[in-house]
Amino acid sequence: MTDLQRYKQYEAGALCSVAGCDALAEFEVYLYDYYIDTAVEFFEQDLTCPFLCKSHMEQNEAEADGERRPRGQIYYPFSNGHYAQGYTKYAPLASVFPVLFDATGQPFTKEVVIAYQTINDELIQFLSKHPDKLHDLDPRRFEELVAELFRKQGFQITLTPQTRDGGKDIYALKHDQFGKSLYLIECKRYAKHNKVGVETLRSLYGVATVENATKGIIATTSSFTKDAIDFASPLEYKLSLRDFDALSEWLIDYTTDA
Ligand SMILES: [Zn+2]
Repeated sequence: MTDLQRYKQYEAGALCSVAGCDALAEFEVYLYDYYIDTAVEFFEQDLTCPFLCKSHMEQNEAEADGERRPRGQIYYPFSNGHYAQGYTKYAPLASVFPVLFDATGQPFTKEVVIAYQTINDELIQFLSKHPDKLHDLDPRRFEELVAELFRKQGFQITLTPQTRDGGKDIYALKHDQFGKSLYLIECKRYAKHNKVGVETLRSLYGVATVENATKGIIATTSSFTKDAIDFASPLEYKLSLRDFDALSEWLIDYTTDA
């Protein structure tokens, strides 16, 4: 998001963009589109409605009319005032500008990040038929995809902020009849020939141990070096390696689940 096009900079104390609303802005609003044929993304701040408070964000979603799909057209009550192709996404300002929010002590609502930034079904359908296109996703988008695959399996997901993940990209928490499990997931969107090495595994294993996680999982679009596989094999209850073939199966499972 470093080169994200912005029309209006956020400043602490900025208000929701809905006329007459005097609530503090809580979300930055984006116009998003995905050109499937070329695997190119369009992602910029919504110039007609750059910020929303939580209740107007929810109303904007609830009253949206149209299909959220690449090249789709959706009517929104507040955002996308020019009725451009694509659809609206939101990010909590606290996650977009963590420094500002840390400084003012406002809460960081991480849980909602994924709820409004999910990879859409049509993209997953497409990737399940053309898994080689996984290599064209940008690395953050790949993390969001993996997060969505886990979310579908009943996990609560938190994506870590991009610049400070410290060896894990996703926290996936499940609470079921057996208790709580926490998986730390590291995503490596690598080219086919660029195998994931043992260093990545050591680092994730270290973080998972320190954070008392149930297990660490590495998901990659390539595969693993022999050293990495040897390192992981005695740790099979603590470390899982998931390569391109496993991801392709996950995508198919996702699209065939009811
Ligand atoms: Zn508002």
